[in-house]
Amino acid sequence: MGIPKWTIKGIVDDFDECGCCGRRGLKRTVALMPLDADGNEDGSVVYYGTSCAATALSWTQGKVADTARAAQAERDQRDDYARRMISIYAPVEFAPVRDKARVYYGRNQSQRDTGVKATEEVAKLLAEARATLADTTIGPARPWRIEDFRRYVVIFNRDGGISLVRRVPEEEAKRQEQAAAAQRRADEIRGSVLVVAALNAEAARDVAYADELTREWNAKAWQAAHA
Ligand SMILES: [Zn+2]
Repeated sequence: MGIPKWTIKGIVDDFDECGCCGRRGLKRTVALMPLDADGNEDGSVVYYGTSCAATALSWTQGKVADTARAAQAERDQRDDYARRMISIYAPVEFAPVRDKARVYYGRNQSQRDTGVKATEEVAKLLAEARATLADTTIGPARPWRIEDFRRYVVIFNRDGGISLVRRVPEEEAKRQEQAAAAQRRADEIRGSVLVVAALNAEAARDVAYADELTREWNAKAWQAAHA
């Protein structure tokens, strides 16, 4: 077996035309990256239907579909991790060093007093997360700025676990209706309600579970972005 000419980067549903045979109306296509003779990524991604991708790789369609799904799941996981890091740390990026250090070491207890500098780590985490979401290898960039944060109402149960996360509606009347319903629900289960800002609902859970200082900066960042 020679070096394969392609590597599978993911599977997308925003391209419905096979870049190989031109067939249209495909439910999803496989993102293939060309490789040079040494096996390095070389050029830009093409989108093939599963059957043309299978021919190009000399694989079965089943193996193509499985590999593409796994590659996509890995990308989605990286994106989710990036959204969580940005939702936690972007609001403290310009906070006083003392606050930044408290937020960082609060989440990374084992690095306290090891010489790992919180300021540098936060900058590094944010740079990596932004690069992940700005990456357009197989599709458009994903939102990553504080201006892209949305608000989420989080209901905690009485044990401190999250029982529900819902996006806060833009419209004021609907927002108030949701806030009242959330409070009623929290009262019923003897829990509590919190509103946090984040890039998605998964990241909102992280912010909601974070310490008070992280949530304080989260609220400040939301206000500053919507002043
Ligand atoms: Zn095709």
